[in-house]
Amino acid sequence: MQNVQLFWNLYKTELETTVEKHCKNCGHTALFTDTHIRRHNANGKNIYRFAIYKCAKGHTWNKKLHIYKTHSEHVETVDTFQEERQETLNNISITPYQNGGTTELTILLESVHGVFRIDKVLATYISEWSRTVITEKIKDGAIQLNGQQIKPNAKLAAGDCISIYM
Ligand SMILES: [Zn+2]
Repeated sequence: MQNVQLFWNLYKTELETTVEKHCKNCGHTALFTDTHIRRHNANGKNIYRFAIYKCAKGHTWNKKLHIYKTHSEHVETVDTFQEERQETLNNISITPYQNGGTTELTILLESVHGVFRIDKVLATYISEWSRTVITEKIKDGAIQLNGQQIKPNAKLAAGDCISIYM
């Protein structure tokens, strides 16, 4: 019995959008939905901002949005960047926890900016699990919110605690 605790901050900045494009993993054209998750990658003096899109099977596609310069002296820009950098910390891989003997993974939501469904958030942040897998686990009670069984479309709020039982 090993319990691991994580802290997440959720942000939503833009309206939901879908893009129809070829999915390499599906091998055909698929409808990609904006997960509202943004990722920053630093490359030399540039910071690339990506929107993470997913097809129905859960394959990801990073759409490039903006390029920032890291030497900006505008304080507000720096603050925004630091705050948004936390988004990338949410991304987790479940396999190392399973292999390491973790039986329960607890995710505490420190802040929630916007409206988020538990199934969408977990499908976005957990790399191995598709939305279908997440939905099944929620229905089986293997994923709970505040110690209770919930529906896949349950909304998340700051202070909520997500429990994942392996
Ligand atoms: Zn796909």
